[in-house]
Amino acid sequence: MYKVKANGKNNYKVYTSSMSMEHMMEFEHSLRKALEWDEFLLYYQPQVSIATNKIVGVEALLRWRRPGYGFIPPADFIPLAEETGLILAIGEKVLRKACEQSVAWRQKGLTDLRIAVNISTLQFQQTNFIEMVTNIISETGANPNQIELEITESVAMGPIENFLAKLSLLKHMGFQIAIDDFGTGYSSLHYLSQFQINRLKIDRSFISSLEKSEKDEAIVKLIVMMAKGLNFNVLAEGVETEAQSTFLKQIGCDEFQGYLFSRPLSLDECEHLLF
Ligand code: C2E
Ligand code: MG
Ligand code: MG
Ligand code: MG
Repeated sequence: MYKVKANGKNNYKVYTSSMSMEHMMEFEHSLRKALEWDEFLLYYQPQVSIATNKIVGVEALLRWRRPGYGFIPPADFIPLAEETGLILAIGEKVLRKACEQSVAWRQKGLTDLRIAVNISTLQFQQTNFIEMVTNIISETGANPNQIELEITESVAMGPIENFLAKLSLLKHMGFQIAIDDFGTGYSSLHYLSQFQINRLKIDRSFISSLEKSEKDEAIVKLIVMMAKGLNFNVLAEGVETEAQSTFLKQIGCDEFQGYLFSRPLSLDECEHLLF
């Protein structure tokens, strides 16, 4: 067990890991190098309309192809990237790649397809976030209407006015905004009505226990009803079974994403499905 200092703050996060400090530093070093050597790539997971079973969007999911180790999933390196601040450079790269992809697909006729990009809380809270996003849009020529920024409830934890102001700017630029992993954070229902967002993404944990837990069924129903009332679109994450999708259809959920339709795909595999 060892401690890593969280970015510039005085609180320490304790990590229990089988990695030694030496390994940890080596890991951080290769994460830095990965940026330089362009070892990051995006996988894409389809997002499907429940009514039509058609693909309406894809979520860009980060993969690290680390030489000698194969593919490293985000859960294994994003926490460290956040601790070290490297997530800022990584996140910028992800957004740029997603915007470039959006332009390429647009040129091939997909003028409505949405690409969702995960934005880390640290990234969203940077004072230059809007500037960074503006630059990427003008440099890539992407249409913000086709880009969805996925943020989590934790971004609203800081001063609420700052958060709402940023949200409003992004909406004005034309971006779509989704709240990811909804139901696992601390959103105040009081603020939710002030959020100018497009979509709530119901966290996978509620979906995976649908068949086992009547309580989770009640929660999912409630989230869908609430989303409708607030005029948000609602997407269920991690749908793996027909039974889950049937239930979601019955209660009026708009979209889903999950292994039932498709796992996250490489660019080639995804294009095979899209064209
Ligand atoms: P997320 O944004 O909630 O993404 C959904 C995760 O659920 C993905 O895992 C996806 O592969 C997985 N998933 C989708 N459908 C199913 C299903 O039916 N069953 C199961 N068991 N899993 C399913 P992945 O790709 O490993 O990403 C994990 C998390 O890492 C993401 O959760 C997101 O929080 C983070 N992440 C991924 N890419 C980025 C990125 O570019 N930037 C940032 N900041 N975070 C990222
Ligand atoms: Mg996400
Ligand atoms: Mg999620
Ligand atoms: Mg998640």
